[in-house]
Amino acid sequence: MEKAKCKDRTDVKFFPDNGDNAFAARRFCSGCPVRVQCLEYALHHNLTDGVWGGTSPNQRKAIRRKRATA
Ligand code: SF4
Repeated sequence: MEKAKCKDRTDVKFFPDNGDNAFAARRFCSGCPVRVQCLEYALHHNLTDGVWGGTSPNQRKAIRRKRATA
């Protein structure tokens, strides 16, 4: 968390309201030094809301599905 790009940022909506686009948050995550760890944390804990590691909930669902069949 110390290295997270989003640390101390309150202007980026990582948990957008229904209908809001998460694109801005996903884009913000690019270049985060702990993006991979953030994504793996979300996958490990089955976090189904918000943007983690630059991915939307649907993208994480697709990753989980792909890994389950691999
Ligand atoms: S990848 Fe995770 S830690 Fe990094 S900015 Fe995005 S939400 Fe924050």
